Amino acid sequence: AEPTAPLRARAEIDLGALRANVRALRARTPGAALMAVVKSDGYGHGAVPCARAALAAGATWLGTATPEEALALRAAGLPGPILCWLWVPGGPWRQAIEAGIDVSLSGMWALREAVAAARAAGRPARVQLKADTGLGRNGCQPGPDWAELVGEALRAEAEGLVRVTGLWSHFACADEPGHPSITAQLDRFREMLAYAEEQGVRPEVRHIANSPAALTLPETHFDLVRTGIALYGISPSPELGTPADFGLRPVMTLSASLALVKHVPGGHGVSYGHHYVTPGETTLGLVPVGYADGIPRHASGAGPVLVDGKWRTVAGRVAMDQFVVDLGGDEPAVGSEAVLFGPGDRGEPTAEDWAQACGTIAYEIVTRIGTRVPRVYV
Ligand code: PLP
Repeated sequence: AEPTAPLRARAEIDLGALRANVRALRARTPGAALMAVVKSDGYGHGAVPCARAALAAGATWLGTATPEEALALRAAGLPGPILCWLWVPGGPWRQAIEAGIDVSLSGMWALREAVAAARAAGRPARVQLKADTGLGRNGCQPGPDWAELVGEALRAEAEGLVRVTGLWSHFACADEPGHPSITAQLDRFREMLAYAEEQGVRPEVRHIANSPAALTLPETHFDLVRTGIALYGISPSPELGTPADFGLRPVMTLSASLALVKHVPGGHGVSYGHHYVTPGETTLGLVPVGYADGIPRHASGAGPVLVDGKWRTVAGRVAMDQFVVDLGGDEPAVGSEAVLFGPGDRGEPTAEDWAQACGTIAYEIVTRIGTRVPRVYV
C-alpha cells in the first residue's frame, strides 16, 4: 500500500528503524549472536518482514513461541536457525524437524515426542534443553529432573536421534536493576550448564538474555541474546531508560483518519455509559479504531492522541471500532490524521505513553494491534 493511502487506520512499520535497532543491539552485545524474537507476529509488527529485515541487519537466529510460527517463517523462505519454545503434546514435531527448526524441551514428555518424531522423520531433531533457573514458568527444574533430561537427551544423541544444539533459560526480573533474582538465576544457570557439559553436552549456543539483559547486563550475554521488544525500538521498562538512551527507535506508528468532526453543546454525554460529558460547547472528533483493533478499553478517558498538533485524550469509553476525542472547539478537517503513537519525534505520544495511560506495558500495546489494521512497510 502507498504510505499516504487514506486508510481508516494504519500501522506504519519502519523497517529501516528495525535494521538500525539490530545494529545498535549488536554493538551493545559484542561476542554474542543475536536472535530476533518475532513471536506473536513480530510483536504485532509482522513476523516475516521483520525477520527478513533483522537477518539483513546482522541477526543470525530467529525465535518464536509456537512451532506454527516457526514453520510459517520457514514456509516464507527464511533461512538459518530458528528456535521455538512453546510446545504441547501432539505438536508438529516432525514438521519442525524436517524444516530444520530447533525445538525447545522443558521436560521428558517433550524429549519423548521429539525422539519419536525424529525416528519417523529419519533425521535427528535439533533440540535445546530449557532450564528453569528461577523464572518459575516453562523450563526444567534443576536437580533430578535436569539430570534425567540431560542424561536421556545424551542417550538419544548417541543414537543419532537428537542433536543438543542449545542450553538455555529465561529471566524473571532482568528489567529490575539490582533485583537479587538476577544473580541467583545466573548462578543457577552456570551450575546447570556445568552439569550438562560435564555429562558431555556440546551445545552450539548457551543463552539466557532477553532485551533488558542484552541492554544492561553484559555478564548475561553468553553465546546469544534473544531480543524482542528492543528490536521494535521499545525500552523494556521506563525505569531502565528511554529507547533513545539505548540508541533505539520505535518501529511502529499507529494512526487513523478522523471519521467525523462535529459541534456539540455543553452537557453532551459521549460514548457508551456517558462517562464523559462535555464541559461546555465544543467539537468532537471520531477516531475510527477501537478495542477490536487492539486499542485497550482501559484507555477510556486516558489514551493520548495527536490531532492537528495537539494532544487530545480519549473521551469516554473506547468502543469496539471507534472512540471520540474532545477537540476543544478546534475544527480539523474530517480525514485529518490522528496519531495514537509513534517514535515521538513529531510530537506524537509513544506506545509507552499508551502503556502508562492503560496501566500496562508497551509490549501489550503493540502486540495487541489487530489484524484489521493494515501494516504499511516503509
Ligand atoms: N525469550 C523468551 C523465552 C521469551 O518468552 C521472550 C519474550 O517474552 C523473549 C526471549 C524476548 O523478550 P524481550 O521482548 O524482553 O526481549
